[in-house]
Amino acid sequence: MNGLSVRVGVSGTSFAFDQAYSYSVPAELADKAVCGSRVIVPFGRSDRRRVGIIVEVCPDTEDIGKLKAVSSVVDKMPIIGNEQLRLLLWLRETVFCTYYEAFRTLIPPGLGVSFVQKYRLSQKKPKKGELSEKAMGLYLSASETDDGGELAMMISEDGRSAAELMEKGFLEETDLAKQRVRDDTVSMVRLTPEYSERDIKLTPKQRAAAEVLLREGCASVRELCYMCGCTAQVVKNMVKSGAAELFDYEVLKAPETAERDNVDDITLNRYQQNAFDGISRMIDEHKPASALLFGVTGSGKTPVFAKLIDHTLKSGRNVIMLIPEISLTPQTLNRFRRLFGETVAVLHSGLSLSMRSNEYKRVKSGQCRIVVGTRSAVFAPLDNIGLIIMDEEGERTYKSESSPRYHAKDAAAQRCLYHNAVLLTASATPSIESYYSAQKGRTKLFVMPERYSADPNEKAAMPKAEIIDMTGSGRVLSEELVSGINDNLRRGEQSILLLNRRGYHTFITCSECKEPVSCPNCSIPLTYHKINNRLICHYCGYSQDYTDRCPKCGSSKLRLTGMGTQRLEDELAEFFPSAKILRMDADTTYSRYAYDKRFTAFGNGEYDIMVGTQMIAKGLDFPNVTLVGVLNADKSLYSGDFRSYERTFSLITQVVGRSGRGNSRGRAIIQTYAPDHYVINLAAQQNYTAFYEQEIAMRRALIYPPFCDICAVGFSGEDDGKTSSAADIFAEKIAERIKELPEKMPVRVLGPSKCVFEKINGKFRYRIIIKCRNNASFRSFISGIRTDTAKLPEFRGISVYIDMNGDISL
Ligand code: ADP
Ligand code: ZN
Ligand code: ZN
Repeated sequence: MNGLSVRVGVSGTSFAFDQAYSYSVPAELADKAVCGSRVIVPFGRSDRRRVGIIVEVCPDTEDIGKLKAVSSVVDKMPIIGNEQLRLLLWLRETVFCTYYEAFRTLIPPGLGVSFVQKYRLSQKKPKKGELSEKAMGLYLSASETDDGGELAMMISEDGRSAAELMEKGFLEETDLAKQRVRDDTVSMVRLTPEYSERDIKLTPKQRAAAEVLLREGCASVRELCYMCGCTAQVVKNMVKSGAAELFDYEVLKAPETAERDNVDDITLNRYQQNAFDGISRMIDEHKPASALLFGVTGSGKTPVFAKLIDHTLKSGRNVIMLIPEISLTPQTLNRFRRLFGETVAVLHSGLSLSMRSNEYKRVKSGQCRIVVGTRSAVFAPLDNIGLIIMDEEGERTYKSESSPRYHAKDAAAQRCLYHNAVLLTASATPSIESYYSAQKGRTKLFVMPERYSADPNEKAAMPKAEIIDMTGSGRVLSEELVSGINDNLRRGEQSILLLNRRGYHTFITCSECKEPVSCPNCSIPLTYHKINNRLICHYCGYSQDYTDRCPKCGSSKLRLTGMGTQRLEDELAEFFPSAKILRMDADTTYSRYAYDKRFTAFGNGEYDIMVGTQMIAKGLDFPNVTLVGVLNADKSLYSGDFRSYERTFSLITQVVGRSGRGNSRGRAIIQTYAPDHYVINLAAQQNYTAFYEQEIAMRRALIYPPFCDICAVGFSGEDDGKTSSAADIFAEKIAERIKELPEKMPVRVLGPSKCVFEKINGKFRYRIIIKCRNNASFRSFISGIRTDTAKLPEFRGISVYIDMNGDISL
């Protein structure tokens, strides 16, 4: 018999076994079962219920009776529209994730789920025969989900079984739902930076909570309890064990009373005007296109954005503006809210789930026409897009390093294709790929070669940079930097110090065996923390008391090397006892989300010196900063990724560019152990094009992007030998089947080899690097091997991922 069926992406499947499963649709659900709606379906041998998303409707399916039937349709209206469905399919095909993972990326967590009822399973376990068959089914389904929203859906679908579970004490209602979220400050929770790929002993409830945080970034404590069906005590214990941390989030309110600025009051200079004219013409053409705005630091990219946004809105179309760091949102958001008011929405992972859901709804309902946000904001349900701006598109934060491993730029390009919109990337240090594309004429290039000057008759000077050789100095601060800071203190001007920390900590080295004292679980040096005199592993959280004996050879000749923020603080206090110092880094708990307050305080002159890591290097605009110090410029040159030169160049150029943005000329002092290195020298001169020439020649010679794509296949497992041989088997399969690829497709396989961090939290890590062309035939080739190998006994207990053009230094 023929009839209506749907194809469903089901939650909780693994990539290797994921597919669009077919289900028949009972007549009474026929008009609700449409693409983009969620359903509850029986799944697997025991027909546990799972939530899924309809990705295809098939009106005339043969042998409909052989299919399992959809149990219910969750949404009255499709939760995602046509364009989002296309994005879902695109994500699944290009970044190797499941249908449902792709779906989850598109919508904020908890959306469409009623927050009114709140249940959780109790500790009690049902004995055999204690429950009716249906109630037992619901119980088993419920115990498989870590998501309070899904649980609520299952319960509302089968009220009678739910009542039975409640009556017999297996399901309980919690009182959390009765509390209302106050909207001034919200107590938020997120995983600690050290949590990373850590797998410390968590209870099942803690693990469920950690998974939600890993997926969603952060949540308010109450929301997390809701999502996981746990109590606040569970969260407290996670904080105690160091897996999570609490912070307060102040709800950003639109500045109702604040003065509004008028876009018409902005007068562009000739470079800005030229860029505006060209890009606005592209927008008016209604064709998918891309542009690169290459403007030196301080050239005034923001006013160009503002004018372009205004132009796009006036022509009846909408805008997404992506920024790389949550820490930059308050600044950007305020600027655009002053110009455009309530029509600006903000979406990023630092918001609580209900705030995200609210903003999402404001966008979806058409109340907002401008979306400002970080990576995931690229999926905002905005219609009729005319322009997507990506500020600092070379930043690593635009690439997701956990599944789905997408790059915001690729997603933005997809959306521009759909909407006939313009993708505008902008930077003083464009990614090598973008600049190459501009050279080839695929992207239209606009250059702003000078700093913006308020006086059109006078050129604003770039900062004057000096390179200081630190070899053999043994100090953290050079004499030049100390006297520079002193001069600034005397003049009442401010200074910024960048501590480039990547791969560089205070660690302990043994003078006898020449090796750093490392974590027993990971192959990573332990970091010394003075505050409690302990050695801590930043990857798995292992810690031990500091001893003066080498654990390997027993020698007592241990010495501290490297430099952390703490040692720097000590030196600063010693040299500048009266200076007010603001420290911004990811280690000062709470501080990461209090950026706004701190930056504002710095802007108001409440501090003399700001010290920080990467997060202070870019985007900030403080006119009174006239000195920038880079403390260990070369450290990130050797991080093990082919992008490490590009990143180091960009970081130094950008932080130097924070200096002298007001009326006085800026100065920069770059301390380094590699004073002759061309990357350091060109960054000091802010000479991007010379750097680009060197870099593109190297990429061409060694075959790196943009001359190929880099596909990494990663393996991790508890048993070193098993993990290594799984990687070998995978590599053999590639070699065997490489003939299946179209001829002339250049593919080069490197490895398998150990990862830079070869062991993290008791898991050994291997990787195969494939230089390839990222196209449909290669992707289907590699995911085919992934699917086939997943069935082999050798792959039991081994996790495998496929990542395109990601960071290979981790
Ligand atoms: P960047 O290109 O580094 O992002 P900004 O957009 O922050 O530069 O601009 C640098 C400084 O110059 C800011 O203080 C900004 O207000 C000022 N500026 C740039 N263009 C104009 C303009 N057209 N009118 C007035 N001020 C401007
Ligand atoms: Zn030793
Ligand atoms: Zn460790």
